[in-house]
Amino acid sequence: MKQLLLVGAGLAHLHIIKQLRQTNLPDTEVTLISPSPIHYHAGLFSGFAEGIDALDDISLAIEPLTEAAQATFLQDAVLSIDPNTKQVLTQTGRVLSFDLISFNNGTLTGETNITGARESALTIKPDYRFPEVIDKVRTQGELSIVGDDKMTIELAGAIKAWRHRHHVTEPVRILANGRLLANHHPNISSKIEKHLGKMGIECWLDTPIQEVYLNGVQAKTGQTIPHDHLLWLMNDKAMDMFRKAKLPTDQNDYLLIENTLQVKKYPYIFAVGRTATINQHPNHSLSAMDPLQMGELLWQNIKGYLTNGEGYVFEPSMEIQTTISLGQKKACLINKNKVSISRRLWAVHHRHQRHILSQIKRGDV
Ligand SMILES: Cc1cc2nc3c(=O)[nH]c(=O)nc-3n(C[C@H](O)[C@H](O)[C@H](O)COP(=O)(O)OP(=O)(O)OC[C@H]3O[C@@H](n4cnc5c(N)ncnc54)[C@H](O)[C@@H]3O)c2cc1C
Repeated sequence: MKQLLLVGAGLAHLHIIKQLRQTNLPDTEVTLISPSPIHYHAGLFSGFAEGIDALDDISLAIEPLTEAAQATFLQDAVLSIDPNTKQVLTQTGRVLSFDLISFNNGTLTGETNITGARESALTIKPDYRFPEVIDKVRTQGELSIVGDDKMTIELAGAIKAWRHRHHVTEPVRILANGRLLANHHPNISSKIEKHLGKMGIECWLDTPIQEVYLNGVQAKTGQTIPHDHLLWLMNDKAMDMFRKAKLPTDQNDYLLIENTLQVKKYPYIFAVGRTATINQHPNHSLSAMDPLQMGELLWQNIKGYLTNGEGYVFEPSMEIQTTISLGQKKACLINKNKVSISRRLWAVHHRHQRHILSQIKRGDV
């Protein structure tokens, strides 16, 4: 029997598990390893933070899915990999052998090396910490959120909306190194910043942080900004296990894969999601792709590797649109240099995210 090890319960791997309910892989035992028995769906994090979606609506239990797929679930985390002996070491000290391995293990929170951040700031990575952290910061106290991307905007908007509904007036503020969504056109940043400002969210732009204290931060601009809770959503960073294993990585330590989702030198190593960069499309964020489409490509190529050697290549979509939930059941759609905001966009986005999760739960193919 061949051993297929799926590292991480990201959506692409859950798609593989869903497919296994319909089609077995020939002579292959499948194990999914992940530190939490629950998957929380990031596309609905803002709905949970705003109080629109209950915990059950945004989560799914992994083990019933693996059981139905005749796969094994291991609650554990991979710490290191040896690509030559085809073994991984886990947090609990297991050594697991594999013939084929796939990584969908996400990222870590970035820039936690700023003095005091590790001790005083709250992070939501790994993702299973999310509900507990939101419960802690949502209900009361001055909240500062450090970051500038989609996650920051969604959580600031959602928590502000929750507080507005529950008559909690203490501030929600964003502390950003530069502008919000700094990699987009400045007009887009302006529109989003203005919208959040109207909601009563303080946007402290161009405020890089020098040091973090228990109840405040010192900015490089010299200002001291107090808080009761500090939520640290700085840019993601890669886990260091790929670099340590001397696997090919990009300049940020993400695993470098080919457009078949395989490592060139070790074609029995696959990866998908934010943990990897595709050699042929280095500027194309894999997390910006539909995770289920990526899961399907991974499924086809793993099947091909185990059977007839055939596979497909990743073709980036020419048009990438981003939808960001802004709170109060509004969302914005960013398409090239244009941004529009409406309730209808939120409703469509929210329905789509719920649909993704329910497809996985039901095991539809
Ligand atoms: C408010 C908010 C909104 C977001 N919206 C989006 C969005 O719309 N689209 C989007 O793509 N992303 C979004 N994200 C980011 C999202 O949380 C994921 O980080 C991102 O989608 C990457 O997905 P992934 O498939 O690479 O891995 P993830 O979905 O992060 O899954 C990684 C899995 O690997 C597991 N894992 C971690 N370390 C190990 C290890 N050492 N060994 C084994 N398993 C491990 C984790 O527990 C998890 O199961 C959002 C985040 C937030 C907070």
